[in-house]
Amino acid sequence: MKYKRILLKLSGEALMGDRQYGIDPKRLAEYAQEIKEIHDKGIEIAIVIGGGNIFRGVAGASNGMDRVQGDYMGMLATVINGMALQGALEEAGMQTRLQTALKIEAIAEPYIKRKATRHLEKRRIVIFGAGTGNPYFTTDTAAVLRGVEVNADVILKGTRVDGVYTSDPEKNADAVKFDYISFEDVLAKGLNVMDTTAFTLSQENKLPIIIFDMNKRGNLLKVCEGQTVGTTVTI
Ligand code: UDP
Repeated sequence: MKYKRILLKLSGEALMGDRQYGIDPKRLAEYAQEIKEIHDKGIEIAIVIGGGNIFRGVAGASNGMDRVQGDYMGMLATVINGMALQGALEEAGMQTRLQTALKIEAIAEPYIKRKATRHLEKRRIVIFGAGTGNPYFTTDTAAVLRGVEVNADVILKGTRVDGVYTSDPEKNADAVKFDYISFEDVLAKGLNVMDTTAFTLSQENKLPIIIFDMNKRGNLLKVCEGQTVGTTVTI
């Protein structure tokens, strides 16, 4: 395996499967199997999960809701997803811990870096919920932050697209996918990989990001083996 410890970022929307909203149990079970494959290979796995399948603060604000209130609702949505993922991973036979940036002690440990690291060393899968715990941030930023904190080797951003393109492949048939690209080139070309805060944090800490299609069976394992899947962003 190319990596010893990874931070896997899954968007909330990824859990919807073919649905328009919420969580598809079938998709969740499929993800659990993919994660089990890499866990069986000895990789230490930390996961940050989004909440966009349930609630986004920006969407709430555009409908007249207070932005901060909406963002906290979004953070709670990530905890619901984290609990669902935790259930699916345990169903598939893995040990897990859910740690949240907002304290909800009846269901999750509060985020403590040293504890998280210890869990990882003991081969427990650690799911980080409630994003960074602060409004106006995203779970992509939480992923990079936690990745840096627990010394992950790489951020694996599993999405529904298979990488970074020269332009939007859905609008432009000539769009070409990058296998590798530098942080600087992403900025110079104005490409969209992650939000600016997440991207800058990753660049400053020299933490590579791989964007890949999580819905293609076997891709997660291939990425961890170091095969050229998706787009790798490095310094
Ligand atoms: N959120 C937040 N602070 C954070 C992480 C998330 O306020 O540190 C809120 C924000 O409202 C966001 C929502 O939680 O819209 C869900 O997260 P995100 O949109 O990143 O989820 P994803 O797009 O990955 O499903």
